[in-house]
Amino acid sequence: MSDNEFIDLRSDTVTKPSPAMREAMASAEVGDDVFGEDPTVNQLQERVAELLGKEAALFVPSGVMANQLAVKTQTQPGDEIIVEEGSHIFNYETAAPAMISNVQIRTLQGQRGVLTAEQIGSAVRSKDYHQPRTSLVCLENTHNRAGGTIYPLEEIQRIRDFSKSRGINMHLDGARIWNAWIASGTHPKDIARYFDTVSVCFSKGLGAPVGSAVAGTKETVEKARKFRKVLGGGMRQVGVLAAAALYALDNNIQRLAEDHDKAQLFAQKVGSVRGFTIDLPSVQTNIVIIDIANTGRTTTDILSLLRSKKVLLTEMTSSKIRAVMHLDVTKEQVTTAAQTIVTSFSHVA
Ligand SMILES: *Cc1c(COP(=O)(O)O)cnc(C)c1O
Repeated sequence: MSDNEFIDLRSDTVTKPSPAMREAMASAEVGDDVFGEDPTVNQLQERVAELLGKEAALFVPSGVMANQLAVKTQTQPGDEIIVEEGSHIFNYETAAPAMISNVQIRTLQGQRGVLTAEQIGSAVRSKDYHQPRTSLVCLENTHNRAGGTIYPLEEIQRIRDFSKSRGINMHLDGARIWNAWIASGTHPKDIARYFDTVSVCFSKGLGAPVGSAVAGTKETVEKARKFRKVLGGGMRQVGVLAAAALYALDNNIQRLAEDHDKAQLFAQKVGSVRGFTIDLPSVQTNIVIIDIANTGRTTTDILSLLRSKKVLLTEMTSSKIRAVMHLDVTKEQVTTAAQTIVTSFSHVA
């Protein structure tokens, strides 16, 4: 829980390492990871590769770096990559694909973040020499901006069949693949098998202070290691951070179900307030997106009023706000937050 009794639902990144996690960090065996000699980092990388059914994995400082290494290792300058228009790669990575990989982004609008094989099929470029080459399709599971939605496995399979037939690689932004696993029952390995590369985060719902990984073939991961160095991401005795990630994998995956329950509870309560519109079918994991267009108020208004009552949410778009459940808020606090919204806004509109 945050300081001063704020109920902080801005993001699942706000969690702080627990005493037990800190203990695991303090006792981690370390070495120089740039020399490949940090035993804890090596253990984490093997563990992630195994979890995702990939040959290898690389520990990196952030999810952005994991995604960008996947783009960089699988494209050439001047290529085009296909992403969903609400994707993290397109919206929240500061145009890194343009800056780092010199690729052009083609966005397609999905349904709750989900693209179909047909949509992708019609966006892929022909071999006509005026056109860029489509070299990578990136999907996101769960999909943040769509409200934590889960990608149906059958659609992933269809997209894979199509992409494979056209020689196009696939990357999964699996920052919240853990939530998809717990909510759907599909093991990450059974999702990852349709992708050439997969990125995962330890610092979202899993509660580690920092860290992500990107997994793929040995060859791709070796290329990624080189570019990680280029980006300044070569780290030394970083086993202290890898230990937090290992602790998170051991202890904080199954409990994500509680976050999903809290999201349901919150969505049911808040969705009953006039003007607070929630697309309930999109509440599939730990994120709740609230459309406040019909309240006649601005997001800034609503967020600052809630802040004055010690409840923190964040803005998604000019008419949408977001609440994210995580391991540092209890069910009681979530109930209190929802009740605060009910009592603050039930009289309006
Ligand atoms: C948080 C997140 C990332 C990683 O972002 P960082 O700011 O590097 O932690 C990547 N993809 C998605 C979908 C995310 O939600």
